[in-house]
Amino acid sequence: MERLTPLLAQYHRIKERYPGTLLLFRVGDFYEMFYEDAEIGARALNLTLTSRPHGPNHRVPLAGVPAKSLEAYVARLVAQGLKVAVCEQLEAPSRNKPVVARDVIEVITPGTVTRSGLLDERRNNYIMALSPAGENWGMAFADLSTGEFTVTEIDFKNLTEEIVRVSPAEILLPENWPGEPPNRKLGIELALTRLDDYYFTPEFAFEKLTSHFGVVSLAGFGIEHLNEGICAAGALLEYLEQTQCSALPHILRLTPYCPTEYLLIDRVSRRNLELIENLHPPDNRSKEIGTLFWVLNRTQTPQGTRLLRRWLLNPLLSVEEINRRQEAIAELTNQGSPLKEIAECLREIGDIERITAKVALGRANPREVIALRNWLSGAPKLKNLTNQFSADYFCQIREKLFDFTPLVEEISQVLVDDPPITITEGGLIRSGYNKELDELRQIAANAKEFIARLQEEERRRTGIPNLRIGYNSVFGYYIEITKSYLGVVPRHYIRKQTVAQGERFITPELKEYEAKILNAEERIKSLEYDLFLQLRSKIASYTTQILDFGQAVAQLDVLASLAEVARDKNYTRPIVDNSYIIEIKKGKHPVVEAMVEEPFIPNDTLILPDKEQILIVTGPNMAGKSTYLRQVALIVIMAQMGSFVPAEHARIGIVDKIFTRIGASDDVARGVSTFLAEMIETANILNNATSRSLVILDEVGRGTSTNDGLAIAWATVEYLHGEEEFRPRTLFATHYHELADIATYLTRVKNYSFVVRESGDQVLFLRKLRPGPADKSYGIAVAKLAGLPPVVINRAKELLKRFTKGEEINLTQLITEIDLPIASDRIAQPDRKEKSAPHPVLLRLQNLNINELSPLEALNLLAELQKLASEPDG
Ligand code: ATP
Repeated sequence: MERLTPLLAQYHRIKERYPGTLLLFRVGDFYEMFYEDAEIGARALNLTLTSRPHGPNHRVPLAGVPAKSLEAYVARLVAQGLKVAVCEQLEAPSRNKPVVARDVIEVITPGTVTRSGLLDERRNNYIMALSPAGENWGMAFADLSTGEFTVTEIDFKNLTEEIVRVSPAEILLPENWPGEPPNRKLGIELALTRLDDYYFTPEFAFEKLTSHFGVVSLAGFGIEHLNEGICAAGALLEYLEQTQCSALPHILRLTPYCPTEYLLIDRVSRRNLELIENLHPPDNRSKEIGTLFWVLNRTQTPQGTRLLRRWLLNPLLSVEEINRRQEAIAELTNQGSPLKEIAECLREIGDIERITAKVALGRANPREVIALRNWLSGAPKLKNLTNQFSADYFCQIREKLFDFTPLVEEISQVLVDDPPITITEGGLIRSGYNKELDELRQIAANAKEFIARLQEEERRRTGIPNLRIGYNSVFGYYIEITKSYLGVVPRHYIRKQTVAQGERFITPELKEYEAKILNAEERIKSLEYDLFLQLRSKIASYTTQILDFGQAVAQLDVLASLAEVARDKNYTRPIVDNSYIIEIKKGKHPVVEAMVEEPFIPNDTLILPDKEQILIVTGPNMAGKSTYLRQVALIVIMAQMGSFVPAEHARIGIVDKIFTRIGASDDVARGVSTFLAEMIETANILNNATSRSLVILDEVGRGTSTNDGLAIAWATVEYLHGEEEFRPRTLFATHYHELADIATYLTRVKNYSFVVRESGDQVLFLRKLRPGPADKSYGIAVAKLAGLPPVVINRAKELLKRFTKGEEINLTQLITEIDLPIASDRIAQPDRKEKSAPHPVLLRLQNLNINELSPLEALNLLAELQKLASEPDG
């Protein structure tokens, strides 16, 4: 092995500390990758892999990216699940040192991103740690970019669902825990990091958390009982500190979180109901269009958008808390409320949470600080605008709308209004703020004048008229005195050199100025840098208040957004209580209403578990059954998130879980057929629903033969009708008209159907629900609407007539009837003769009812068949 150059030796020393991480090593204007990292990086980023000579016989693989485009490259690496360590030069290059000091300043992994360019401002970027422990796992998750940090413990059987709900970008597990991460069972891949088991031990975790928060006990956070949760939280905090290479002052609290405090909307229902993601997006960018989030989102700030998402995915169970939100929205929707002004004020505010996190982590740039200043200055106006409201929620919000005037003024005094992004090149600090800086700038700008002025001053002070200030590269600046004046040289002049015409001196003052002149530019940059850092630390000392302000902004933004939608679309405030009733008058589907051009036809819903627990909804295809079912689920979700709802009146008895079985969903990748997927979903509902749940079944058993399907659907309804203590509120849409008969003996089942009007051959969909079952399907009418060829439609009508009369299917007859060449070919080709005239034995057998034959008749028949078979022409 060749001896390493100092640079490569330094590289190896640093790289050793970051195994499994791509090291981006700053060298001048580039970040270089060496050895295996170069190969991985070049592949991932499509870069040319080069090499540099190392000794006579070796070459080191090398790939590099320009420093100014770091963020874009890191984004691509992290998106591919790679971890990246950014190693910076910590000092300016100097001729006296073989290599400049370097160290890693940040490790970026999918779950620890804080750079704005790598984050989607509309959603949180969570990282989750799991502490496995039999039935009860510890779970902690954090968003490093906003400071949110949450802990809980979770029953193993609900774990996967919870992981998917939080949707972290990265999961941490103990190194030696042998299992797979639970999300893999669902075929969901998330970046996985294994951490030393030690970080998950209770002792380590307790010490880590208490020292981070500066407390002696965790009781103040209400989490002291969450033993496993604490282990997960401790490990998570350790990992975050390791990757950030710094303390995390913006993580101010650890909040316990209890999944059972929220309406549970499982993965399938979240998808089916298209809460935040459209099942069939027109393209990848517009996944949000056509979702409930899309309808409700009028937020103006990134933290507001993120909070709305959380509210939507976590509707509440507490009537009191729901009412608190409703109160506030009601006040905002009132006549004369300054809703528009609030929205305008919020529009001026950006991502407070993420910039504050960057300030705390020492990563915010001057432009971000100026932006933060502008946002903070909006606080008093917002406070004023909310002053007229009396709802409890506003009191809480107002308390956090601090007056940041002193800080705002200080930032204005320190920074120029339009600073550059970089902090090392100067040009950030306002003149007049720092005396030294002003002088330095003065010096740099007027170095010559300064020397001339000093020379003048020295001449005046010493009385030596020909005193001269000169410069050479050995001594720097000097004062030259001719021989004739050497006798009056002031005592503080220091002799440096004798020259032919006299002597050269320096003074402490001159040397001071010299240093200033020579280094003015450098010094300006570093002084500006220091002053900026001081300012940033000063702002960081306000982290708690600023994050609180950010939270108040987010809450106000979400409330205002919901109020605006309510006002705009004429939504009503629902009554939410602890009853089991669901009563909706003139309800509408919020998304379909927004999407369809024709007017949306409202419908009523009444579910009373003691009397009308299960509503069976029948009706033709396209009548509006699916829309109706989803509409009820969405109204419940909206009501429990505190929003107003699209109805004339609504009363919602709290729902604890929403289950949906909607549409066909193949999961071919996991080897699950459409029908199996349907049955798995149904099984999940029947096993987990409670009397507080809302069950939405849009067709059950359709993926199998009619009789099987009907039998399964039938048994499912019987089961849900259930016992005294098990009465989940259920809406069941079905094409099986026969199912309507179930209401004759199950007393809490009620039939509803969608009405259509027939006019000649046409069907008119009225979209109106009425009590009672539907009589027929109108499937053929829908097929006609869809553009099936008339020949098919007519044939289908003919067949339908026969089927409805109860005629048996006579294949031979069907064969003789059809004239479609393709069909006749297929069926008859093997035996042309049979097509022209089926064998009389066959005809006789086909038309026979064996059950009606006596043994004697059977024997006679056998003789007859034998005779027929032996006749030459059949
Ligand atoms: P299928 O049985 O074929 O699944 P369906 O009865 O479930 O049909 P939907 O899919 O709910 O019918 O509705 C069909 C279309 O009718 C919807 O896409 C929507 O555009 C429109 N629609 C449904 N309900 C209404 C309504 N109440 N007012 C206006 N348009 C509606």
